[in-house]
Amino acid sequence: MINVLFSAGDERWPAYAEALPAAFAAKGLKVNLHRDQSNPAAVDYLVHAPNGTVSDFAPFVNAKAVLNLWAGVEKIVGNPTLTQPLTRMVDAGLQEGMVEWVTGHVLRYHLGMDRQIIDQRPVWEPVVPPLARNRRVVLLGLGELGTACAQALAALNFQVIGWSRRAKDVPGVTCLSGTEGLKAALTQAEICVLLLPQTPATENLLNAETLALMPRGAFLLNPGRGPLIEDAALLAALDSGQIAHATLDVFRVEPLPADDPYWAHPKVTVTPHIASETRAETASEVIAENIRRGEAGEPFLYVVDRSAGY
Ligand code: NAP
Repeated sequence: MINVLFSAGDERWPAYAEALPAAFAAKGLKVNLHRDQSNPAAVDYLVHAPNGTVSDFAPFVNAKAVLNLWAGVEKIVGNPTLTQPLTRMVDAGLQEGMVEWVTGHVLRYHLGMDRQIIDQRPVWEPVVPPLARNRRVVLLGLGELGTACAQALAALNFQVIGWSRRAKDVPGVTCLSGTEGLKAALTQAEICVLLLPQTPATENLLNAETLALMPRGAFLLNPGRGPLIEDAALLAALDSGQIAHATLDVFRVEPLPADDPYWAHPKVTVTPHIASETRAETASEVIAENIRRGEAGEPFLYVVDRSAGY
């Protein structure tokens, strides 16, 4: 019997208490899934989330892996008590959700939808948007989510440029990397989407200097992590018109405090960290597959690179 501790928080338990056993059964795994932390040495795997019930991993001396339910691992990757392998969530539900959120908001900006939806006046004033083939969209971060979004936008005919740490080759996407690549990407970014992880190397990546590289009147989407943006610099760029509008899903402090200037800013749309949610059904399949691999002595999927921080 495989001993699995669910330490991902009470609010998630009802959905996973149903979905995980079904996923384990589908893989033929015999699992004791529980939330009892009284015998940590007996635990084989932890199903974890950053705001869950475990922050000290040292007592889990026999645990073969900590399986994170979130794609982002910035809250756990530096935990000094964590010596077990750490995996992060990559699953079809997360990808589909992010593709839908990103394409929806890119199309809002591309088509100028606010003109009709928000600013409607009895004035017949046709403003014809360019075709997608004449619009450049930049994705900073070309990983599991960034690549899925880049391919969906390329399929809609946008000119898509992606930027990543290591050089990549994604069909239909102009792939850039490195400092010069970032400059080249930003200078073309009519619409810019942030899908980078939060690491020491990516914090404040969008600051006064980098925002100034973007074409005047550019649009910004941040479904990545709040600290990717230096907030004061973005507010200044919005006020000056350098950035025409921003849609922000993630923030340094969440929930975003009621007095945060982003809420009231006329050029900002706030969404409450809902760009893409980990769904129990699809995520449970990934957790079950990783436990199957662990038991079979096969390498885990989606292992976090601790030195890179993601
Ligand atoms: P991923 O597969 O690890 O991809 C990360 C991408 O960022 C990779 O292309 C990576 O480059 C690039 N990158 C990392 N550090 C970099 C650096 N210093 N310079 C340039 N590029 C760098 O992650 P993912 O699954 O796509 O998820 C991305 C992020 O989305 C997560 O970390 C999380 O913060 C966020 N997220 C948000 C939500 C939400 O609801 N808002 C939901 C899920 C995830 P390489 O390709 O070279 O490794």
